[in-house]
Amino acid sequence: MKLTVIGAWGGYPKMDEASSGYLLEHDGYKLLIDCGSGVLSKLQNIIQPEELDGVIISHYHPDHIADIGVLQHARLIQGFLGKNMPTLPIYGHNLDQEEFVKLTYKNITKGMAYNPASRLSIGPFDISFIRTNHPVPCFAMRLEADRKSLVFTGDSSFKEEFIPFSQNADLLLCECNFYAHQNGAGAGHMTSTEAGRFARMAGVNQLVLTHLPHYGQLSDLINEAAKEFEGKILLAEQFLSIDV
Ligand code: ZN
Repeated sequence: MKLTVIGAWGGYPKMDEASSGYLLEHDGYKLLIDCGSGVLSKLQNIIQPEELDGVIISHYHPDHIADIGVLQHARLIQGFLGKNMPTLPIYGHNLDQEEFVKLTYKNITKGMAYNPASRLSIGPFDISFIRTNHPVPCFAMRLEADRKSLVFTGDSSFKEEFIPFSQNADLLLCECNFYAHQNGAGAGHMTSTEAGRFARMAGVNQLVLTHLPHYGQLSDLINEAAKEFEGKILLAEQFLSIDV
C-alpha cells in the first residue's frame, strides 16, 4: 500500500494547504480517506479527481468533508467533457442522515453506508472500524491489503479499545491535535504523549502524527511522542508519501 498525505491540518487548512485527506493506493485502486477543505485542489498534484475509485469518510466535520461537493462538481464537469466517469462510491456512516444523503449526487457519486460492526471490502482493501470518542459520531479504520495494515484514527480522544484494534499495525496514522502539556479529551482529540503511548502499547511499526495544531513547534509533538514510543515517528505533511 502507498499512502500519500494530501492534507494534515486539524480544524481548517493552513494557507495553501489542506485539512484532512489521504490517498491510499494498492493494486491500481485509488482510495481517498477523508476529503477536507483544500483536498480537491491539492489532490490534483498527485492524481486527477476522475481517477479516484472510491472515497471513505471518518466523520462529518467540515475539516474532513468540506470538499465533497467540489469533488462531485469535478467529476460532473469532466463527464460533460467526455471522460468516462463511473459513479464514485463514497463510504460513510449513516448515523447522521442529513450529512449521509449529501454523499449522493445525481449519478456522479453514491453514498454507501458502512456498517461499523462488520468488515468492509473496498477494492483490494479489507477494512474494519471502531467508534471513536469525538463530539459527533466518528470511526477509526484499520485498512489491510496483502498482509500490510494501516490504522487511521480519524478524530478522537484516547480510548483503550484502540490498542487491540491497532495491534501490530504497520503504520498508525494518529491524530495529534494537542501538545503533551495540554488535555485534548474534552475536545475529542489526543495529545502527542497519548499518541506515543498508543503506538507503543499497540506495538505498531511506525507512527505518523496528523490532524496537526496551528500553533506551537510541531517538532515538539515528535519529541514528546518519542518519550513513549521508540519506533519511527513522522509528522504528516503535504505530499509525504510512505510505502506501507
Ligand atoms: Zn472532527
